[in-house]
Amino acid sequence: LAFPPSRSLEVQFGLTFPCPTAARIGKTEGVRDFSFGRVLGEGSYSTVYLATDRQTLKEYAIKVLEKRHIIKEKKIKYVNIEKDTLNRLTEHPGIVRLYYTFQDENSLYYVLDLCNSGELLGVLKKTGTFDVECARFFGAQILDSIEYMHSRGVIHRDLKPENVLLDDSMHVKITDFGTARLLTDPRAPPTAAGAGAAAARPDDRPGRDKQQDDTRAESFVGTAEYKIVELDYGFPPGFPPAAQDLIERLLVLDPERRLTIEHIKNHEFFDGQTFGKQLWRMKAPRLR
Ligand code: ATP
Repeated sequence: LAFPPSRSLEVQFGLTFPCPTAARIGKTEGVRDFSFGRVLGEGSYSTVYLATDRQTLKEYAIKVLEKRHIIKEKKIKYVNIEKDTLNRLTEHPGIVRLYYTFQDENSLYYVLDLCNSGELLGVLKKTGTFDVECARFFGAQILDSIEYMHSRGVIHRDLKPENVLLDDSMHVKITDFGTARLLTDPRAPPTAAGAGAAAARPDDRPGRDKQQDDTRAESFVGTAEYKIVELDYGFPPGFPPAAQDLIERLLVLDPERRLTIEHIKNHEFFDGQTFGKQLWRMKAPRLR
């Protein structure tokens, strides 16, 4: 990974690296400041490595994107949206934090929080189902994170168990902001309709965002498998009634009629549940 630093492709890209967070904390890092370990995972346009800061010995996940591949696949916009969004969401434990970005001749690098316990989807596949305690804990952490991102004017638009990572204490960290919508005024939270306009089209992948309207996200992005079209689903016998009631109020075709975050937090399913700072000091329940 000993490429000489070069800014030539940055100009060609219109990419704005490094990230302001690094500048704020008075540090600029480069590839040589990290020792790279095993591959943690691969995406369509990236490879994620375990990496250690040579000086502090702190471990990170470093996402590496090959510039030529990004150009070829026309994903420049996706790359910049992800960086700009993560730079806006640096103060919440439920969002994967972007510490540094840098580049060399061939690649772009995002230095991220390490999520050692993988994706929520993997955990769900392994356990089969979550009991009420687990569902409430993960649900509360996801909800708290969504509330924060909305307060900062960010609509994720592709939330799914694959994009909910878990750190080594099994706490949630939301990732994959490549198709996020950034509202120009971060103080203005998105409407339920705006946040709900994340219906998917089968061919939709990151970067297929066509709508430029900043007040309401009406473009189609997301993942086709999670599209609500028929509302054709059922509950197994013995399903907890409070959970069933909450799901029925969330899986509603008309986004205007879905529960808001405040309503969800006050729903019977979350009775007695703590939100805010204290939630992130809680020990995750044991998976059964
Ligand atoms: P695609 O781009 O195809 O939608 P993706 O969004 O999952 O895929 P990446 O964000 O590059 O692509 O992640 C690739 C894989 O690396 C993920 O599936 C995940 O398992 C792992 N990964 C991503 N970020 C982290 C992280 N911060 N900590 C640990 N593992 C990670």
